[in-house]
Amino acid sequence: MDWETVIGIETHAQLSTVSKIFSGAATRFGAAPNVQACAVDIALPGVLPVLNRAAVEKAVRFGLAVGATINRRSVFARKNYFYPDLPKGYQISQYELPIVTGGVIKIPFEGGEKLVHLTRAHLEEDAGKSLHEDFHGMSGIDLNRAGTPLLEIVTEPDMRSAEEAVAYAKELHARVRWIGICDGNMQEGSFRCDANVSVRPKGSAVLGTRCEIKNLNSFRFLEEAINYEVRRQIELLEEGGQVVQETRLYDPDRRETRSMRSKEDAHDYRYFPDPDLLPLVISAETIEQIRSELPELPQAKRERYMSEFGLSAYDAGVLTSSREVAEFYENLIRALGGGYKLASSWISVELFGALKRAGMEISQSPISSGQLADLLQRIQKNAINGKQAKEVFDAMWNGEGDAEAIIVARGLTQISDAGELEQVIDGMLAANSKSVEEYKAGKEKAFNALVGQAMKATKGKGNPALINEILKKKLAG
Ligand code: ADP
Ligand code: MG
Repeated sequence: MDWETVIGIETHAQLSTVSKIFSGAATRFGAAPNVQACAVDIALPGVLPVLNRAAVEKAVRFGLAVGATINRRSVFARKNYFYPDLPKGYQISQYELPIVTGGVIKIPFEGGEKLVHLTRAHLEEDAGKSLHEDFHGMSGIDLNRAGTPLLEIVTEPDMRSAEEAVAYAKELHARVRWIGICDGNMQEGSFRCDANVSVRPKGSAVLGTRCEIKNLNSFRFLEEAINYEVRRQIELLEEGGQVVQETRLYDPDRRETRSMRSKEDAHDYRYFPDPDLLPLVISAETIEQIRSELPELPQAKRERYMSEFGLSAYDAGVLTSSREVAEFYENLIRALGGGYKLASSWISVELFGALKRAGMEISQSPISSGQLADLLQRIQKNAINGKQAKEVFDAMWNGEGDAEAIIVARGLTQISDAGELEQVIDGMLAANSKSVEEYKAGKEKAFNALVGQAMKATKGKGNPALINEILKKKLAG
Protein backbone atom coordinates (compact mmCIF):
# COMPACT_ATOMS: atom_id res chain seq x y z
CA MET A 1 0.00 0.00 0.00
CA ASP A 2 1.07 3.57 -0.70
CA TRP A 3 1.06 5.88 2.30
CA GLU A 4 0.79 9.63 2.56
CA THR A 5 2.45 11.55 5.38
CA VAL A 6 0.58 14.42 7.03
CA ILE A 7 2.35 16.95 9.26
CA GLY A 8 1.23 19.96 11.26
CA ILE A 9 3.74 22.00 13.25
CA GLU A 10 3.45 23.96 16.46
CA THR A 11 6.33 26.35 17.11
CA HIS A 12 7.16 28.13 20.32
CA ALA A 13 8.99 31.34 19.44
CA GLN A 14 10.36 33.22 22.42
CA LEU A 15 9.51 36.89 21.99
CA SER A 16 12.62 38.99 22.47
CA THR A 17 11.41 41.27 25.26
CA VAL A 18 13.55 42.55 28.13
CA SER A 19 11.07 41.43 30.79
CA LYS A 20 8.57 38.60 31.27
CA ILE A 21 5.08 38.56 29.81
CA PHE A 22 3.29 39.30 33.11
CA SER A 23 6.05 40.62 35.39
CA GLY A 24 9.09 42.87 35.43
CA ALA A 25 11.57 40.01 35.95
CA ALA A 26 14.38 39.78 33.37
CA THR A 27 14.34 37.25 30.51
CA ARG A 28 18.12 37.20 30.00
CA PHE A 29 19.49 33.75 29.14
CA GLY A 30 22.12 32.01 31.24
CA ALA A 31 21.55 33.51 34.69
CA ALA A 32 22.13 31.40 37.83
CA PRO A 33 19.07 29.22 38.62
CA ASN A 34 16.03 30.93 40.14
CA VAL A 35 17.41 34.47 40.30
CA GLN A 36 15.04 35.67 37.59
CA ALA A 37 11.75 34.26 38.84
CA CYS A 38 9.68 36.74 40.79
CA ALA A 39 6.54 36.28 42.89
CA VAL A 40 4.30 36.84 39.86
CA ASP A 41 6.10 34.26 37.73
CA ILE A 42 5.43 31.58 40.30
CA ALA A 43 1.99 32.99 41.27
CA LEU A 44 2.50 33.40 44.99
CA PRO A 45 -0.77 34.28 46.73
CA GLY A 46 -1.87 37.89 46.43
CA VAL A 47 0.12 38.88 43.33
CA LEU A 48 -1.43 40.02 40.06
CA PRO A 49 -0.09 39.69 36.52
CA VAL A 50 0.32 42.80 34.33
CA LEU A 51 0.53 42.24 30.59
CA ASN A 52 3.77 43.31 28.85
CA ARG A 53 2.91 45.65 25.99
CA ALA A 54 6.08 44.75 24.04
CA ALA A 55 5.00 41.09 23.85
CA VAL A 56 1.62 42.11 22.43
CA GLU A 57 3.23 44.37 19.84
CA LYS A 58 5.54 41.60 18.70
CA ALA A 59 2.63 39.19 18.32
CA VAL A 60 0.78 41.77 16.21
CA ARG A 61 3.91 42.34 14.16
CA PHE A 62 4.06 38.63 13.44
CA GLY A 63 0.40 38.48 12.42
CA LEU A 64 0.87 41.37 10.00
CA ALA A 65 4.02 39.80 8.54
CA VAL A 66 2.17 36.58 7.59
CA GLY A 67 -1.01 38.24 6.32
CA ALA A 68 -3.11 37.01 9.25
CA THR A 69 -6.11 38.52 11.02
CA ILE A 70 -5.24 40.44 14.18
CA ASN A 71 -8.08 39.90 16.60
CA ARG A 72 -9.01 43.20 18.19
CA ARG A 73 -10.16 41.27 21.25
CA SER A 74 -8.45 38.18 22.63
CA VAL A 75 -8.64 36.41 25.97
CA PHE A 76 -6.05 34.86 28.28
CA ALA A 77 -7.00 31.48 29.68
CA ARG A 78 -5.58 29.22 32.34
CA LYS A 79 -4.40 25.83 31.13
CA ASN A 80 -4.40 23.69 34.26
CA TYR A 81 -1.93 20.89 34.80
CA PHE A 82 0.62 19.84 37.35
CA TYR A 83 4.28 19.44 36.59
CA PRO A 84 7.31 20.15 38.79
CA ASP A 85 8.42 22.98 36.50
CA LEU A 86 5.00 24.63 36.86
CA PRO A 87 4.48 25.02 40.59
CA LYS A 88 1.59 27.43 40.14
CA GLY A 89 -0.48 24.61 38.65
CA TYR A 90 -1.55 26.45 35.51
CA GLN A 91 -0.03 28.11 32.48
CA ILE A 92 -1.47 31.37 31.20
CA SER A 93 -2.17 30.93 27.51
CA GLN A 94 -4.84 31.89 24.99
CA TYR A 95 -7.39 29.31 24.00
CA GLU A 96 -10.71 30.13 22.35
CA LEU A 97 -9.78 33.67 21.35
CA PRO A 98 -6.11 33.97 20.29
CA ILE A 99 -4.52 37.25 19.26
CA VAL A 100 -3.79 36.06 15.69
CA THR A 101 -5.80 33.80 13.37
CA GLY A 102 -4.94 32.62 9.87
CA GLY A 103 -1.98 33.72 7.80
CA VAL A 104 0.26 31.86 5.42
CA ILE A 105 3.93 30.96 4.89
CA LYS A 106 5.24 30.17 1.40
CA ILE A 107 7.82 27.44 1.04
CA PRO A 108 9.83 26.37 -2.02
CA PHE A 109 8.23 23.34 -3.67
CA GLU A 110 9.13 21.52 -6.91
CA GLY A 111 10.65 24.61 -8.48
CA GLY A 112 7.65 26.73 -7.45
CA GLU A 113 6.00 27.59 -4.17
CA LYS A 114 3.63 25.85 -1.80
CA LEU A 115 1.44 27.48 0.84
CA VAL A 116 1.46 26.36 4.45
CA HIS A 117 -1.60 27.84 6.16
CA LEU A 118 -1.43 28.98 9.74
CA THR A 119 -4.29 28.15 12.05
CA ARG A 120 -3.43 30.64 14.75
CA ALA A 121 -0.72 32.25 16.84
CA HIS A 122 -1.33 32.89 20.50
CA LEU A 123 0.51 34.46 23.39
CA GLU A 124 1.47 32.36 26.38
CA GLU A 125 4.02 32.10 29.15
CA ASP A 126 6.80 29.54 29.31
CA ALA A 127 7.20 27.13 32.24
CA GLY A 128 10.39 26.49 34.23
CA LYS A 129 12.94 23.80 33.57
CA SER A 130 13.81 20.55 35.37
CA LEU A 131 17.53 19.88 35.81
CA HIS A 132 18.40 16.22 36.11
CA GLU A 133 22.17 16.41 36.37
CA ASP A 134 24.26 17.22 39.45
CA PHE A 135 21.56 16.43 42.00
CA HIS A 136 22.42 12.86 43.04
CA GLY A 137 19.23 11.06 42.10
CA MET A 138 17.04 14.11 42.57
CA SER A 139 15.91 16.78 40.15
CA GLY A 140 16.49 20.48 40.45
CA ILE A 141 14.01 23.09 39.26
CA ASP A 142 15.08 26.33 37.61
CA LEU A 143 12.19 28.77 37.33
CA ASN A 144 14.06 31.48 35.42
CA ARG A 145 12.15 30.65 32.26
CA ALA A 146 8.77 30.78 34.01
CA GLY A 147 6.77 33.63 32.57
CA THR A 148 8.99 34.15 29.52
CA PRO A 149 6.78 35.39 26.65
CA LEU A 150 6.14 32.89 23.89
CA LEU A 151 4.24 33.07 20.66
CA GLU A 152 2.89 29.63 19.78
CA ILE A 153 2.42 29.43 16.03
CA VAL A 154 0.22 26.54 14.82
CA THR A 155 -0.11 25.34 11.22
CA GLU A 156 -2.85 23.45 9.46
CA PRO A 157 -1.85 19.84 8.66
CA ASP A 158 -0.54 21.04 5.27
CA MET A 159 2.90 19.44 5.01
CA ARG A 160 3.46 16.11 3.29
CA SER A 161 7.08 15.22 4.00
CA ALA A 162 9.91 15.86 6.44
CA GLU A 163 11.58 18.07 3.80
CA GLU A 164 8.50 20.28 3.58
CA ALA A 165 8.34 20.49 7.37
CA VAL A 166 11.97 21.60 7.49
CA ALA A 167 11.43 24.11 4.67
CA TYR A 168 8.50 25.56 6.63
CA ALA A 169 10.45 25.71 9.88
CA LYS A 170 13.38 27.46 8.15
CA GLU A 171 11.13 29.98 6.46
CA LEU A 172 9.33 30.71 9.73
CA HIS A 173 12.66 31.00 11.55
CA ALA A 174 13.93 33.49 8.96
CA ARG A 175 10.67 35.45 9.17
CA VAL A 176 10.59 35.91 12.98
CA ARG A 177 14.20 37.04 12.92
CA TRP A 178 13.62 39.33 9.94
CA ILE A 179 10.85 41.20 11.77
CA GLY A 180 12.85 41.27 15.01
CA ILE A 181 10.42 39.48 17.31
CA CYS A 182 12.57 36.45 18.22
CA ASP A 183 16.34 35.92 18.21
CA GLY A 184 15.84 32.43 16.76
CA ASN A 185 18.58 30.92 18.94
CA MET A 186 17.68 27.24 18.82
CA GLN A 187 20.37 26.03 21.23
CA GLU A 188 19.04 28.37 23.90
CA GLY A 189 15.48 27.21 23.23
CA SER A 190 14.23 30.45 21.69
CA PHE A 191 12.69 28.56 18.76
CA ARG A 192 11.27 25.06 19.40
CA CYS A 193 9.14 22.96 17.10
CA ASP A 194 6.64 20.21 17.93
CA ALA A 195 5.80 18.01 14.95
CA ASN A 196 2.39 16.35 14.69
CA VAL A 197 2.75 13.37 12.41
CA SER A 198 0.24 10.91 10.96
CA VAL A 199 0.04 8.67 7.90
CA ARG A 200 -2.92 7.60 5.79
CA PRO A 201 -3.48 5.48 2.68
CA LYS A 202 -2.72 7.61 -0.37
CA GLY A 203 -5.93 9.16 -1.70
CA SER A 204 -7.77 8.94 1.62
CA ALA A 205 -9.57 12.10 2.71
CA VAL A 206 -9.62 11.38 6.43
CA LEU A 207 -6.65 12.08 8.65
CA GLY A 208 -4.86 9.25 10.41
CA THR A 209 -4.21 9.20 14.15
CA ARG A 210 -1.30 11.48 14.94
CA CYS A 211 1.58 11.51 17.38
CA GLU A 212 3.13 14.71 18.59
CA ILE A 213 6.92 14.85 18.85
CA LYS A 214 7.95 17.49 21.35
CA ASN A 215 10.71 20.05 21.60
CA LEU A 216 12.75 19.58 18.45
CA ASN A 217 15.43 22.22 18.75
CA SER A 218 17.29 21.81 15.47
CA PHE A 219 16.26 21.46 11.84
CA ARG A 220 18.19 18.22 11.59
CA PHE A 221 16.38 16.66 14.56
CA LEU A 222 13.06 17.81 13.12
CA GLU A 223 13.80 15.99 9.88
CA GLU A 224 15.19 12.84 11.52
CA ALA A 225 12.36 12.62 14.05
CA ILE A 226 9.65 12.90 11.40
CA ASN A 227 11.30 10.34 9.13
CA TYR A 228 11.65 7.90 12.01
CA GLU A 229 8.08 8.45 13.15
CA VAL A 230 6.64 7.97 9.66
CA ARG A 231 8.47 4.64 9.30
CA ARG A 232 7.31 3.53 12.75
CA GLN A 233 3.66 4.32 12.04
CA ILE A 234 3.66 2.66 8.63
CA GLU A 235 5.27 -0.50 10.02
CA LEU A 236 2.77 -0.58 12.87
CA LEU A 237 -0.21 -0.21 10.53
CA GLU A 238 1.10 -2.73 8.02
CA GLU A 239 1.46 -5.27 10.83
CA GLY A 240 -2.22 -4.76 11.60
CA GLY A 241 -1.63 -2.54 14.63
CA GLN A 242 -2.97 0.89 15.43
CA VAL A 243 -1.30 4.22 16.12
CA VAL A 244 -2.08 5.51 19.59
CA GLN A 245 -2.44 9.26 19.92
CA GLU A 246 0.37 10.26 22.23
CA THR A 247 3.19 12.65 22.93
CA ARG A 248 6.62 11.32 21.99
CA LEU A 249 10.18 12.48 22.57
CA TYR A 250 12.99 12.31 20.04
CA ASP A 251 16.26 10.79 21.21
CA PRO A 252 18.95 12.11 18.86
CA ASP A 253 21.57 9.63 20.13
CA ARG A 254 19.43 6.58 19.32
CA ARG A 255 17.70 8.36 16.44
CA GLU A 256 14.26 7.24 17.52
CA THR A 257 11.10 8.64 19.08
CA ARG A 258 9.89 7.29 22.43
CA SER A 259 6.52 7.47 24.11
CA MET A 260 6.45 10.19 26.77
CA ARG A 261 2.83 10.28 27.83
CA SER A 262 -0.59 9.62 26.39
CA LYS A 263 -1.98 12.73 24.79
CA GLU A 264 -4.33 14.82 26.89
CA ASP A 265 -7.41 16.20 25.20
CA ALA A 266 -8.12 19.90 25.49
CA HIS A 267 -10.93 19.26 27.98
CA ASP A 268 -8.45 17.64 30.37
CA TYR A 269 -6.84 21.02 30.90
CA ARG A 270 -10.03 22.64 32.21
CA TYR A 271 -9.30 25.85 30.36
CA PHE A 272 -11.08 28.91 31.72
CA PRO A 273 -10.58 32.66 31.23
CA ASP A 274 -7.96 33.97 33.66
CA PRO A 275 -9.90 36.04 36.21
CA ASP A 276 -6.79 38.15 36.95
CA LEU A 277 -6.45 39.44 33.39
CA LEU A 278 -8.87 41.57 31.40
CA PRO A 279 -9.53 40.63 27.81
CA LEU A 280 -6.81 42.05 25.58
CA VAL A 281 -8.29 44.80 23.39
CA ILE A 282 -6.13 46.32 20.65
CA SER A 283 -7.18 49.49 18.86
CA ALA A 284 -7.16 49.84 15.09
CA GLU A 285 -4.69 52.73 15.47
CA THR A 286 -2.24 50.55 17.38
CA ILE A 287 -2.41 47.91 14.64
CA GLU A 288 -1.85 50.54 11.94
CA GLN A 289 1.04 52.01 13.91
CA ILE A 290 2.72 48.60 14.10
CA ARG A 291 2.02 47.98 10.42
CA SER A 292 3.76 51.24 9.53
CA GLU A 293 6.86 50.17 11.48
CA LEU A 294 7.09 46.78 9.79
CA PRO A 295 10.25 46.39 7.69
CA GLU A 296 9.92 45.55 4.01
CA LEU A 297 9.47 41.75 3.90
CA PRO A 298 11.80 39.41 1.98
CA GLN A 299 9.26 38.56 -0.73
CA ALA A 300 8.57 42.24 -1.50
CA LYS A 301 12.29 43.01 -1.43
CA ARG A 302 13.07 40.19 -3.86
CA GLU A 303 10.46 41.45 -6.30
CA ARG A 304 11.72 45.03 -6.01
CA TYR A 305 15.35 44.00 -6.55
CA MET A 306 14.29 42.29 -9.77
CA SER A 307 12.04 45.03 -11.16
CA GLU A 308 13.96 48.10 -9.94
CA PHE A 309 17.55 46.89 -10.10
CA GLY A 310 17.27 44.34 -12.90
CA LEU A 311 18.68 41.49 -10.78
CA SER A 312 17.93 37.84 -11.53
CA ALA A 313 15.57 35.92 -9.24
CA TYR A 314 18.58 33.96 -7.99
CA ASP A 315 20.64 37.04 -7.11
CA ALA A 316 17.63 38.73 -5.51
CA GLY A 317 17.12 35.59 -3.40
CA VAL A 318 20.76 35.53 -2.27
CA LEU A 319 20.68 39.19 -1.27
CA THR A 320 17.49 38.75 0.77
CA SER A 321 18.60 35.60 2.57
CA SER A 322 18.73 37.65 5.76
CA ARG A 323 17.94 41.19 6.75
CA GLU A 324 21.63 41.86 7.46
CA VAL A 325 22.63 40.87 3.93
CA ALA A 326 19.87 43.01 2.38
CA GLU A 327 20.96 45.94 4.54
CA PHE A 328 24.58 45.53 3.48
CA TYR A 329 23.53 45.50 -0.17
CA GLU A 330 21.28 48.53 0.17
CA ASN A 331 23.96 50.51 2.01
CA LEU A 332 26.43 49.60 -0.72
CA ILE A 333 24.26 50.70 -3.66
CA ARG A 334 23.30 53.87 -1.80
CA ALA A 335 26.99 54.76 -1.44
CA LEU A 336 27.64 53.88 -5.08
CA GLY A 337 24.58 55.74 -6.32
CA GLY A 338 23.69 52.68 -8.43
CA GLY A 339 25.99 49.86 -9.50
CA TYR A 340 23.26 47.30 -8.73
CA LYS A 341 24.82 44.38 -10.54
CA LEU A 342 28.40 45.24 -9.62
CA ALA A 343 27.43 45.41 -5.93
CA SER A 344 25.40 42.20 -6.17
CA SER A 345 28.21 40.18 -7.70
CA TRP A 346 30.86 41.50 -5.30
CA ILE A 347 28.71 40.53 -2.33
CA SER A 348 27.70 37.10 -3.56
CA VAL A 349 31.08 36.10 -4.99
CA GLU A 350 33.95 37.88 -3.20
CA LEU A 351 32.42 38.79 0.14
CA PHE A 352 30.40 35.57 0.64
CA GLY A 353 33.41 33.52 -0.48
CA ALA A 354 35.64 35.17 2.10
CA LEU A 355 33.00 34.96 4.84
CA LYS A 356 32.46 31.29 4.14
CA ARG A 357 36.18 30.50 4.25
CA ALA A 358 36.42 32.32 7.58
CA GLY A 359 33.21 30.77 8.95
CA MET A 360 31.75 34.22 9.61
CA GLU A 361 28.38 35.93 9.36
CA ILE A 362 28.04 39.14 7.37
CA SER A 363 27.63 41.07 10.62
CA GLN A 364 31.22 40.04 11.48
CA SER A 365 32.68 41.09 8.13
CA PRO A 366 35.98 42.96 8.55
CA ILE A 367 35.08 44.94 5.41
CA SER A 368 32.15 47.31 5.92
CA SER A 369 29.71 48.31 3.18
CA GLY A 370 31.34 51.75 3.17
CA GLN A 371 34.82 50.31 2.64
CA LEU A 372 33.58 48.05 -0.14
CA ALA A 373 31.81 51.01 -1.77
CA ASP A 374 35.10 52.92 -1.70
CA LEU A 375 36.74 50.06 -3.59
CA LEU A 376 33.95 49.53 -6.14
CA GLN A 377 33.85 53.26 -6.91
CA ARG A 378 37.40 52.93 -8.20
CA ILE A 379 36.28 50.24 -10.63
CA GLN A 380 33.39 52.44 -11.74
CA LYS A 381 35.81 55.33 -12.30
CA ASN A 382 38.23 53.08 -14.16
CA ALA A 383 40.97 53.84 -11.65
CA ILE A 384 41.64 50.10 -11.21
CA ASN A 385 40.46 47.04 -13.07
CA GLY A 386 38.57 44.03 -11.72
CA LYS A 387 41.65 41.91 -11.21
CA GLN A 388 43.41 44.63 -9.25
CA ALA A 389 40.26 45.24 -7.22
CA LYS A 390 40.29 41.60 -6.12
CA GLU A 391 43.84 42.01 -4.92
CA VAL A 392 42.82 45.13 -2.97
CA PHE A 393 39.82 43.27 -1.55
CA ASP A 394 42.01 40.46 -0.22
CA ALA A 395 44.42 42.96 1.30
CA MET A 396 41.55 44.87 2.92
CA TRP A 397 40.20 41.60 4.30
CA ASN A 398 43.62 40.92 5.82
CA GLY A 399 43.61 44.29 7.56
CA GLU A 400 46.15 46.10 5.37
CA GLY A 401 44.12 49.32 5.52
CA ASP A 402 41.62 51.07 3.28
CA ALA A 403 41.55 50.89 -0.52
CA GLU A 404 43.58 54.08 -1.05
CA ALA A 405 46.45 52.97 1.23
CA ILE A 406 46.62 49.52 -0.38
CA ILE A 407 46.57 50.89 -3.93
CA VAL A 408 49.38 53.31 -3.16
CA ALA A 409 51.46 50.74 -1.25
CA ARG A 410 51.16 48.18 -4.06
CA GLY A 411 51.30 50.57 -6.98
CA LEU A 412 47.96 49.32 -8.26
CA THR A 413 47.01 52.10 -10.59
CA GLN A 414 45.26 51.43 -13.84
CA ILE A 415 46.56 52.89 -17.08
CA SER A 416 43.60 54.72 -18.61
CA ASP A 417 45.64 57.17 -20.62
CA ALA A 418 44.76 56.48 -24.28
CA GLY A 419 48.07 57.85 -25.60
CA GLU A 420 50.13 55.70 -23.27
CA LEU A 421 48.07 52.60 -24.11
CA GLU A 422 48.31 53.24 -27.86
CA GLN A 423 52.10 53.24 -27.62
CA VAL A 424 52.16 49.94 -25.74
CA ILE A 425 49.63 48.41 -28.15
CA ASP A 426 51.59 49.50 -31.24
CA GLY A 427 54.67 47.75 -29.90
CA MET A 428 52.65 44.67 -28.98
CA LEU A 429 51.00 44.47 -32.45
CA ALA A 430 54.36 44.65 -34.18
CA ALA A 431 55.56 41.70 -32.10
CA ASN A 432 52.40 39.64 -32.74
CA SER A 433 51.92 39.92 -36.49
CA LYS A 434 50.81 36.30 -36.70
CA SER A 435 47.77 36.87 -34.47
CA VAL A 436 46.98 40.06 -36.37
CA GLU A 437 46.93 38.18 -39.67
CA GLU A 438 44.78 35.43 -38.20
CA TYR A 439 42.30 37.97 -36.91
CA LYS A 440 42.16 39.73 -40.28
CA ALA A 441 41.59 36.33 -41.92
CA GLY A 442 38.41 35.96 -39.82
CA LYS A 443 39.62 34.16 -36.71
CA GLU A 444 37.65 35.97 -33.96
CA LYS A 445 39.52 34.24 -31.16
CA ALA A 446 42.78 35.90 -32.13
CA PHE A 447 41.32 39.16 -30.85
CA ASN A 448 41.16 37.85 -27.30
CA ALA A 449 44.74 36.69 -27.56
CA LEU A 450 45.76 40.21 -28.56
CA VAL A 451 43.84 41.74 -25.63
CA GLY A 452 45.68 39.31 -23.37
CA GLN A 453 49.02 40.31 -24.87
CA ALA A 454 48.23 44.01 -24.42
CA MET A 455 47.26 43.43 -20.77
CA LYS A 456 50.50 41.56 -20.29
CA ALA A 457 52.47 44.38 -21.90
CA THR A 458 50.93 46.79 -19.36
CA LYS A 459 51.83 44.40 -16.51
CA GLY A 460 48.11 43.91 -15.83
CA LYS A 461 47.57 47.62 -15.28
CA GLY A 462 45.82 48.47 -18.52
CA ASN A 463 42.18 49.47 -18.60
CA PRO A 464 40.60 46.45 -20.35
CA ALA A 465 37.70 48.39 -21.85
CA LEU A 466 40.02 51.00 -23.32
CA ILE A 467 42.43 48.36 -24.66
CA ASN A 468 39.49 46.69 -26.38
CA GLU A 469 38.44 49.93 -27.96
CA ILE A 470 41.90 50.91 -29.18
CA LEU A 471 42.59 47.44 -30.55
CA LYS A 472 39.33 47.38 -32.51
CA LYS A 473 40.11 50.73 -34.03
CA LYS A 474 43.66 49.77 -34.99
CA LEU A 475 42.72 46.38 -36.44
CA ALA A 476 39.88 47.86 -38.46
CA GLY A 477 42.28 50.35 -40.03
P1 ADP B 1 -3.12 20.24 20.30
O1 ADP B 1 -1.80 19.67 19.94
O2 ADP B 1 -2.96 21.34 21.26
O3 ADP B 1 -4.10 19.22 20.70
P2 ADP B 1 -4.49 20.63 17.70
O4 ADP B 1 -5.37 19.47 17.85
O5 ADP B 1 -5.14 21.88 17.26
O6 ADP B 1 -3.72 21.01 19.04
O7 ADP B 1 -3.35 20.27 16.65
C1 ADP B 1 -2.09 20.69 16.76
C2 ADP B 1 -1.33 20.47 15.48
O8 ADP B 1 -1.51 19.16 14.98
C3 ADP B 1 -1.74 21.39 14.35
O9 ADP B 1 -0.56 21.86 13.73
C4 ADP B 1 -2.52 20.51 13.41
O10 ADP B 1 -2.39 20.92 12.07
C5 ADP B 1 -1.85 19.18 13.61
N1 ADP B 1 -2.69 18.02 13.35
C6 ADP B 1 -3.95 17.79 13.78
N2 ADP B 1 -4.37 16.59 13.36
C7 ADP B 1 -3.36 16.03 12.67
C8 ADP B 1 -3.18 14.77 12.01
N3 ADP B 1 -4.12 13.84 11.98
N4 ADP B 1 -1.99 14.54 11.41
C9 ADP B 1 -1.02 15.46 11.44
N5 ADP B 1 -1.13 16.63 12.04
C10 ADP B 1 -2.28 16.93 12.66
MG1 MG C 1 0.10 20.48 20.70
